[in-house]
Amino acid sequence: TDSTFYPHRTFKVILAGDAAVGKTTFIERICHGHFTPNLSSTIGKEFTLASLFFCIQLKVLHDGLYILVWDYVGLLHFLQFFLGVDFRVKTIELDGKCVALQLWDTAGQERFRSLTKSYFRRADGVILMYDVSNERTFANIRNWIHNVEEGAGRKVPIVLSGNKVDLREESCSPQGLCVSHSDGEKLAMQCGAIFVETSPKTGHNVFEALMMLAK
Ligand code: GDP
Ligand code: MG
Repeated sequence: TDSTFYPHRTFKVILAGDAAVGKTTFIERICHGHFTPNLSSTIGKEFTLASLFFCIQLKVLHDGLYILVWDYVGLLHFLQFFLGVDFRVKTIELDGKCVALQLWDTAGQERFRSLTKSYFRRADGVILMYDVSNERTFANIRNWIHNVEEGAGRKVPIVLSGNKVDLREESCSPQGLCVSHSDGEKLAMQCGAIFVETSPKTGHNVFEALMMLAK
């Protein structure tokens, strides 16, 4: 039917959280259905700079005129670099209706704390992510929530995602340097967020997390 192809509504969903918690991998899993190991934000940047280099090409014509050739893809990457954003669209079915979710990823600015609050301005929902095997990323969640709410200027539905849950058993010390399920749940409750533990590596709860937010 038509509703399969024409989204009934579009929502802007932002992936946020510290660098390397797995945001880009999460989006890859949603959009391509598989785990993409070793995504590197630096590759993106090198590619961006290379395309900037190639994107304006001066071509000498026979009569000595110069024309400026803009390479569309190069331009997109160039803009992405400066705007610092990138989004993919995932369409899902919700209550029998087709809904489009724009999944906004950052281009690594979270690394330099240079994400401006205005980034969250028109967000319909946020997937706020930490890495269960890295307590520092969990300790930063309150700052992120503060930024989201200040940037949006209102309450925004948040799904708090304890990501890389596959690593908890595998690589956490007996002293418990990993973030437990109950600590995550507690924080989510205090912040009025929905809690879920995910792993783009195994696929665990990835789509479910998105559906929770969409609902
Ligand atoms: P971002 O900076 O938040 O976008 O993080 P990335 O998506 O670039 O992921 C950072 C690193 O974590 C990469 O090496 C990923 O392969 C790895 N990673 C992402 N998700 C998982 C996961 O669920 N399990 C494990 N074990 N590693 C993951
Ligand atoms: Mg990333």
